[in-house]
Amino acid sequence: MEKYYRKLILLFLFSVGTALLIFLINGNWFFGRATPSDSRTVLALNSARETSVQAETESVSADWTKAGSRNALILYSPNDETSVYYEKNLRVALKHLRIGSQSVALSRTDSVSYPEYDLVIIASPHVETEMADPITRLFDYAEEGGRVFWGILPNETGAQFQSVYRKLGIIDLIGYTDYSSYYFEDELLPGFKGLTLSDEGFLDAGLNVTLEDQARIYAAAGNGQTEVPLIWSFDTGKGRCVFYNGTAITGDFYRGIAAGCVSALFDDTMYPVINALCLFIDDFPSPQYENESEITRKEYNRTVKEFYRDIWWPDMQSAANRYGDVYTGLFIATYNDIVNPEDFVFDEPSMERYYGNSLLRSGHELGAHGYNHQSLTLAGGTPASMNYNPWASQADMTASLKKLASIASDFFPGVVMTSYVPPSNYLSAEGRSAVKEALPGLKVISGIYTGEGEEGDVYVQDFEIAKDGIAEFPRISSGMFPSDYEKLSYLSALGLYGVFSHFIHPDDLFDEERGRGQTWDVLFDSYSEMIGEIHASYPFLRSLSVSEAADALFVCQEATPSLDYQEDAIYGSVEHFYGEVFFYLKTDKNPVSVDKSCSIQPIDPENSSLYYLVTVNEPVFTIKLEKP
Ligand SMILES: [Zn+2]
Repeated sequence: MEKYYRKLILLFLFSVGTALLIFLINGNWFFGRATPSDSRTVLALNSARETSVQAETESVSADWTKAGSRNALILYSPNDETSVYYEKNLRVALKHLRIGSQSVALSRTDSVSYPEYDLVIIASPHVETEMADPITRLFDYAEEGGRVFWGILPNETGAQFQSVYRKLGIIDLIGYTDYSSYYFEDELLPGFKGLTLSDEGFLDAGLNVTLEDQARIYAAAGNGQTEVPLIWSFDTGKGRCVFYNGTAITGDFYRGIAAGCVSALFDDTMYPVINALCLFIDDFPSPQYENESEITRKEYNRTVKEFYRDIWWPDMQSAANRYGDVYTGLFIATYNDIVNPEDFVFDEPSMERYYGNSLLRSGHELGAHGYNHQSLTLAGGTPASMNYNPWASQADMTASLKKLASIASDFFPGVVMTSYVPPSNYLSAEGRSAVKEALPGLKVISGIYTGEGEEGDVYVQDFEIAKDGIAEFPRISSGMFPSDYEKLSYLSALGLYGVFSHFIHPDDLFDEERGRGQTWDVLFDSYSEMIGEIHASYPFLRSLSVSEAADALFVCQEATPSLDYQEDAIYGSVEHFYGEVFFYLKTDKNPVSVDKSCSIQPIDPENSSLYYLVTVNEPVFTIKLEKP
């Protein structure tokens, strides 16, 4: 999926280049030339229009609304695939921030009354060509106390941009630049301060701008030569603007980043989070311990079987014990490719029973992965290159998982498998029904967070309890050796959901791509470092099995907060309060709990200055905000 991004971004850079050329030809690219009188004219025109617009109030449905909650308006381009994708992701992010949202086409802004919204998001690069009325009207709304998130790089900086750039805190612009590194100077999201990330997957373009000293820069981006502000906020009049200087933010993994930008619009803001650290070991137990490999011979003078028994499993157990982490092992009985239940066979592999019981005895959890590794899809559900046999019917899929359950009950008496992870993350609608039918104790399904660039029945989820009560709990990241792209992905999710959801495979060492040609010692050190960093930066994070995390997701999702933000306090109440609820709180002030209804701790006592974890113990609570 990184490759898919790169293609998109290269395309984008190309079009930016073209736009830039057009600008240069028109001789109007340096917008220091905009004359103040121009914008005054526009302003005058604009206030007349506003009066007429406010009269015609539209009734629209919202995604997440509650009396006393904030409300956002998204301006997007219905004919632009990227803008449509971004709009969808913004809605997801806003839902988790507990901010209501409505969307309207940029070409219809003349029918909108901005003051009805707490914030307005520009989610399209086509402001110059599509926005129906002068953008100054939007920035007048900001002046009057409104919040504007200019959420994507404009693909040209024409008259509209020129009329408001000073209100974004921009002094000077010298064109576009490309970059592939991020440096987070401030806490855009919990734990982000000081983070430096570099990855070719970040390749993107932004405006090369100089900002007013009063602008608050949350992140910068660079390419080794040029550094530009990537995310900043600027107070204009009684309101505030935030600008995202790039295009990558439209992707699924950037939902958290987008959420951070939205939070940056407000002095004080809080939203409930799941608070869970989940570690999945896919294909564990499985029959793979009989293989032979030169790698373990050379490195440890051991067979693969001895390596797993003497090195891998003891190492993984010690890593878990260090932090009290809980694994969810995903059981697969055989690697045959039989999809006709009449032909199912099973010869007990030597170590399956041992590892499953060892996992359970050590306090970890066992979930279902499959009778075999053939994804539960009908013909055409997986890409041909995977060489999986399709299942003929839902009934056959059900039979396969019933077979797995009967093997599990023989190997691990009394164990109920409450979670399911689809092999290779493919699962069709029929497959999902089959899983529910075959596993009566099923609580949670864990697929993946994004399917960008993939084809077939990829099981993509957002964190939510589905209508049928099953928890959809995706995995965000994977492997022993995370790239910076992967790192941003999991930190972004930690910021929005308060979740670290990561999977590994026992055979990462033997896989060319996943093992990256490194020794087990290197892989294990890298894994330990990642887990150690997560625990250090988010010390409150609860290590949970995935079925415990499903309960945590339920409590978080059900909690329906009303939050009254005052200058010196936040008065909160939670409807559907099913037990302690965790919130992230962002504030420049000093938050203090006044009684036992809630407790407050900095995200990371070493590094945090903006974000706190609030544990709400009772449905009604008060947080005092003292001047720092
Ligand atoms: Zn697997």
